[in-house]
Amino acid sequence: MVTDIKTLTREALEAQFTVWQQPVYRVGQLLEWLYARRATEWDAMTNLPKALRELLRQHYSLHTLELLRKQGSEDSTQKFLWKLADGSLVESVLIPANPALYGEASDRHTLCVSTQVGCAYGCKFCASGLDGWKRNLNASEIIEQVFSVERWHEQQLKTAGQPKPAQRLVDNLVIMGMGEPLANYDNLIGALRILNAPWGGGIGARKITISTSGLVPQIRRLAAEPLQFRLAISLHGATDAVRERLMPINRKYPLRELLAACEDYQKVKGRMITFEYILIAGVNDGLDQVRPLAALTKKLFAKVNLIPYNQVEGLPWERPDEAAQEKFLAALEQEKAVATLRREKGHDIDAACGQLRLKTERELELKEAGEQKIVKAETGD
Ligand code: SF4
Repeated sequence: MVTDIKTLTREALEAQFTVWQQPVYRVGQLLEWLYARRATEWDAMTNLPKALRELLRQHYSLHTLELLRKQGSEDSTQKFLWKLADGSLVESVLIPANPALYGEASDRHTLCVSTQVGCAYGCKFCASGLDGWKRNLNASEIIEQVFSVERWHEQQLKTAGQPKPAQRLVDNLVIMGMGEPLANYDNLIGALRILNAPWGGGIGARKITISTSGLVPQIRRLAAEPLQFRLAISLHGATDAVRERLMPINRKYPLRELLAACEDYQKVKGRMITFEYILIAGVNDGLDQVRPLAALTKKLFAKVNLIPYNQVEGLPWERPDEAAQEKFLAALEQEKAVATLRREKGHDIDAACGQLRLKTERELELKEAGEQKIVKAETGD
């Protein structure tokens, strides 16, 4: 398989250019085309000599993602469904400026990125895992979600007759889309190093939040990474009994072990951890979860993001009504826990992550079955 150019670091490219007897400043020019100008074709790189472009073309691929569908309007959360080179589908979600959703003060635009096609972890409320795991994304496919959204944005501005933006569109990343990020550890960290590098995406490590359903060994591995990523835990239950009902991973790594790993992470990084907590009616929204959840936040210097559940077709769970959501939040605050409740309607499309992909795959299957039927009818087979 041909290596995608966007899986390589500056150092790796410099080593290759030395072998090719190309001056090192050419690497800077190439990186400028790849990451600042977001070029999609070798021939666009006009200040690189033709012979060098040919060498690059022969040795590397330069993949982009194909936008298959988009949901949501310009001023709200927007969901992008991408088609990868092998036909697999993944989603990314662009969340507009929202004070302190994950980062510090006001975030300009946060992009929620996928790391796998499907997911093997089978959380009971999640659409991403419904058809199981298909494959890991490579570093370039993770990186390209950011650049493809920015290219799309630029195109929108161009169509509207507006100038190119002076700043990047995406300045916050949450690694929380389809897949368990830490199960694709090496490709994820490879992608994040490039997205963080000044010659690459230039997104500060503290503006990158990695979410996990609770892979304890990988949390410890992440603690040893030099970059200061933020950590979010998909908690969804404050006791083993409730968490196990929703997340099979809890049987392998029960809360005690998960929290010990989080504590160690925090000792090294010294940063606040976020607990994601999807509120599901009659499952984890009872007041019996409030005290243990508040105790966890205090023990860990963590905050809770409460996210009202969004119905997934084919799954039995329901969203609690607004009064129940507010009651849960108020009870947490009474226990002196730091918590926020996601109230914005614009986020509705992203909560049921993985649904757009499933829906589109089913539609494509139906279309294919229909076409086969027509061919059979025409040929009489
Ligand atoms: S919530 Fe995350 S880890 Fe769980 S099945 Fe969905 S994508 Fe996988």
